[in-house]
Amino acid sequence: MPGPHNWRHRFKGHVSRWTVPREAILEFLSKSSKHMSAKEIHASLCKSYPRMGLTTIYRTLELLARMGFITKLTLGDGQSRYEFKSSEKEKHHHHLICTECGKIINYSEFLDEELKLVRKTEERLAKKYDFKILDHNIEFLGICEKCNKSKNITKRTEELKKKSKERVENAK
Ligand SMILES: [Zn+2]
Ligand SMILES: [Zn+2]
Ligand SMILES: [Zn+2]
Repeated sequence: MPGPHNWRHRFKGHVSRWTVPREAILEFLSKSSKHMSAKEIHASLCKSYPRMGLTTIYRTLELLARMGFITKLTLGDGQSRYEFKSSEKEKHHHHLICTECGKIINYSEFLDEELKLVRKTEERLAKKYDFKILDHNIEFLGICEKCNKSKNITKRTEELKKKSKERVENAK
């Protein structure tokens, strides 16, 4: 188990200074295994940090995501979810996101295959764009088992379904 403030050491030198919101949010997310929205984070932190408003939380989350400390997941409901990005290899995982109900599935299978593919792609991209790649996120959007059984699906999913069909056709 990682000790408290394990991430502080890891991110040393990445941040010019640790502000209360940055530290509080990272600390909170590092202890949560869930994918949390800004509102949920706010609801949990407001007791200990009454002066930390929702706007500050949004802004801090955006910053932390941009810095690569946390993963931001964009859901169909317009409310992003956030998750601490662990440095431990065993915790490396990606996501299947249901565009209907917003269910998020963590998966860590097929990572060996992924590594091969991702590394190859990264090498080519790095060369072509002269871009140093440090990290990646992979999200698959779709319909979960439960929603797939239900008849009424939203417009957004309908469109995604159509696009995916076209993609398959074009690839033939
Ligand atoms: Zn990966
Ligand atoms: Zn679903
Ligand atoms: Zn996750």
